[in-house]
Amino acid sequence: MKKRYLIAAVLAVILTVVGAAQSFAKEVVVYSARKDHLIKPLFDEYKKETGVEVKYITGKATPLMQRLKSEGKNTPADLLITVDAGNLWNAANEGLLQQVNSEVLDQNIPKHLRDKNNQWFGLSVRARTIVYSTDRVNPSDLSTYEDLGTDKWKGRLCLRTSKKVYNQSLVAMFISEYGEKKTEGIVKSWVNNLATAPFSNDTKVMKAISAGQCDAGIVNTYYYGRLLKKDAATPLALFWPNQDGMNQGVHVNVSGAGVTKYAKNKDEAIKLLEWLSSEKAQNLFADSNMEYPANPGVKPHAYVAAWGDFKQNMINVNKAGELQKAAVMLMDRAGYR
Ligand code: FE
Repeated sequence: MKKRYLIAAVLAVILTVVGAAQSFAKEVVVYSARKDHLIKPLFDEYKKETGVEVKYITGKATPLMQRLKSEGKNTPADLLITVDAGNLWNAANEGLLQQVNSEVLDQNIPKHLRDKNNQWFGLSVRARTIVYSTDRVNPSDLSTYEDLGTDKWKGRLCLRTSKKVYNQSLVAMFISEYGEKKTEGIVKSWVNNLATAPFSNDTKVMKAISAGQCDAGIVNTYYYGRLLKKDAATPLALFWPNQDGMNQGVHVNVSGAGVTKYAKNKDEAIKLLEWLSSEKAQNLFADSNMEYPANPGVKPHAYVAAWGDFKQNMINVNKAGELQKAAVMLMDRAGYR
C-alpha cells in the first residue's frame, strides 16, 4: 500500500515538474513571407541567445495575410513578417496587427520606415532604382526616374508589370511626391518608351537589358546583386537617380514585421521584434538578401556598400499603402500593364 502511494506521489511530482517546464518553455510563432533560407539563420541565432524557440511557416504575402484573417482569434501566429510597405499597410488596415510601444524599436527604426501607429516596423530597406546597360548607356545620360520618359529613351526602356506591389508602391510614392496629374504624365511617358511589354519580374527586366532588348529599367537592388553574383561579367550597373538638391532621392521600400492582433505570446513577439532591429540581427536580416539594414546605425554588407552611397527618399513608406489603390488606377489609365 505504502509503496503504491509513494509511486503515485513521485509520479505527481514528475508530472508537475514537466508541466511547469512546458509552460516556461517560451516560444513565438511567426508567419513569414520571407523565405526559409532568409529567416532560419536568424531564428537559430535567436534560440541560441535567448533559449526561445521560434516556430514559423513561410508562404506568399497575400495568402499568408488571408490565412491570418480567416483564423481570426484562433491564429497561432504572433508575428507577421512580410515584404513591401504596401503589404504591411494592408495588414494593419485589415486589423491583423496591433500597436507596439517599444523604446528599442522607436530608437532603432526611423520614423519614415515604420507604421505611423507603430503597428509594423521596417527591418530591411530595398532601393528601387535604375539599372542600365554598361555597353550602350553612358551614366552621364541618366539623371532621374522622370527622365526615363523623355525622347532619348524611346524604345529603350524595360519595366516589370504594374501588377507587382513593388511598382504600385513606387507609383504611390510618386503620387505623394508630385500629385496624380504629374505622376500620370510620368507613367505615360515611360509606357511610350517601352521596348517591349512589361516583364513578370525584375530579373527578366535585367536579362532583357543585358541581351540588348532594351537599355535601362527600374529594379530592386537585391535582384541586381543576385544576378551579378551568378555572373560578375553581366554588363549592367546601378544608377542612383534624383540625387541633386532639387530632387527627393532614391525610392526605398521595406520588408518588415508586426505583432498580430491576437498574438498569444505578445511579450515574446515584441522581444523578437526588438532583437530583429538590433545590430547583429539587422546584418543577418539584410545581408542574407543583399538589402540595406533599416537601423541607420548598422552598416550594409561590403558587397552591397560597393554599389555606392545614395540619398534615399524620406517620404514615409506608409504612403505606399495609403495611395496603393490610386496608384493601381493611375497605372491602368496610363496604359501600364
Ligand atoms: Fe522581391
